[in-house]
Amino acid sequence: MWMIANVTDIIIPISPTTAEDFRAATERAQAARADLVELRLDTALAQGADGTALFALIPEVPLPVVVTIRHQAEGGDWSGSEDDRRAYLQQADKAGAAFIDYELRFLDQMAWKPASAKLILSYHNFSGPGTDLEQRIEAMYAAGADIAKVAITASDAADLAPLAALCQDHAEKSIITIAMGDHGAPSRLLAGAWGCSHTFARLDDGDEGSAPGQPTISQLLDAYQLKSQDTETLIFGVLGNPVGHSLSPAIHNSAFVNDGVNAVYVPFLATDAVAFWTACKGWIDGLSITIPHKHALYDLTDRNEDLAMQIGAINTIYRDEQGQIVGANTDAQAALECVAAVHGDVAGSRCLVLGAGGVSRALCYALHDAGAQITLTNRNPERAEQLAQELGISHCAWDAANEVEYDVLINATSVGMNQDASPWPSEAHRGGTCIFDTVYTPLETTLLKDGAMAGCRCQDGLRMFIRQAAGQYQRWLDCTAPDLIMRRVALERLGFEENGDHS
Ligand code: NAP
Repeated sequence: MWMIANVTDIIIPISPTTAEDFRAATERAQAARADLVELRLDTALAQGADGTALFALIPEVPLPVVVTIRHQAEGGDWSGSEDDRRAYLQQADKAGAAFIDYELRFLDQMAWKPASAKLILSYHNFSGPGTDLEQRIEAMYAAGADIAKVAITASDAADLAPLAALCQDHAEKSIITIAMGDHGAPSRLLAGAWGCSHTFARLDDGDEGSAPGQPTISQLLDAYQLKSQDTETLIFGVLGNPVGHSLSPAIHNSAFVNDGVNAVYVPFLATDAVAFWTACKGWIDGLSITIPHKHALYDLTDRNEDLAMQIGAINTIYRDEQGQIVGANTDAQAALECVAAVHGDVAGSRCLVLGAGGVSRALCYALHDAGAQITLTNRNPERAEQLAQELGISHCAWDAANEVEYDVLINATSVGMNQDASPWPSEAHRGGTCIFDTVYTPLETTLLKDGAMAGCRCQDGLRMFIRQAAGQYQRWLDCTAPDLIMRRVALERLGFEENGDHS
């Protein structure tokens, strides 16, 4: 008899067609540190496997086996009779399967429970959470399920909320909740923090997995520290669209591990940020907010910090000592620190800022507060004019910018991001001036390369990224962020070795 563990166990779904495949797949899963394999017999049978031959191997393979014959009605390949399905499951039970999984909706037709295996009753809904998950879970436990499993397709991040609530409501029981698809990915990455007994993973990137959005086992164990998660784990994340490219989960999770903090940080891919935050704020301890949502939650906090109020945008949400939800803008201070790092005190210095979008706005407010003399220019002149008027700073036409005298040239446009292009003509650089490029993908942009050739002092945008993250970390945990660790991890992700050239 297998015990149900307190730590979340990882199941790797497999669908071998031969006994040799079955043994090899289980050995690979064990080597990858999985706790169980799920023999998806419905898929294996559809590919010509001999079920009886596979079951014979159950006592010999190195991991406990969940046996599932998923019905077509719930996304599987089984279209046979319930009598035949029951006969297979009875064989699996006798052969020593650790768990048998079948769907709640077939409970009456199945009219059978395993004698020695534990029973997982499951429910799959590919069109969303619906409104009756609680009743279904109750029905599963009432029918004798050892584990109740719910898998729904998330059409947006707000669909995470009902699953988190199920886990909270049934914390004393064994439960698996999964939101399939990219919007639902946090349900898998947070399985331990939500108190799920098990979750599912792919073996590696070459493995398609058995459902959309399944992470690899290495992501779960190494990047998201699944085995260290428990229901006390603090939950943070980055809210954006897209968020798949974000370096933030890697740098924050590495910082938590370095500092021994029981916390995890996940990507929240949301189309409707307001719906997500309204539904999920009860179990989220803090957020980073990125494009395009930096304005969306501004009015949903209990209060916003002064600088964030001036800027009118927040990139951070945290809870203060009274438990109030506070909005902050850590981009502004981070950008100012970058300019100061390359130029020194900005008070009285002439700063030419290219771009009038969100980053420029935060940067201009911080520079203005610090006493810089700013000239703003933007491709779309109306945006520059509007921001300049708001702050009482100078602006000029995009085409006339290289007539402006400056000490520091700042790129706050997206030009140069993932492309070999510069917002500034190479021949217009002036030796001895400073350049700060907010873009950090690539780290050495064309603007910075041209500037370095012309004898300018250069600062890349990664420092700003790390500083804004450190400002968030400090607010969430009330301690100084390990920014050198964060930087090292970010550089690794960007494909660089830390060698001192990118200070
Ligand atoms: P945003 O609000 O969308 O603003 C984009 C800015 O880029 C606007 O001023 C836009 O001008 C300008 N722009 C876009 N394409 C252009 C082109 N072909 N020629 C001239 N100007 C162009 O974006 P954001 O949030 O401010 O972000 C801007 C950049 O900052 C990002 O791309 C990113 O690389 C960088 N960033 C860095 C950090 C960091 O921590 N280092 C954090 C966030 C962002 P128009 O108004 O004329 O469209």
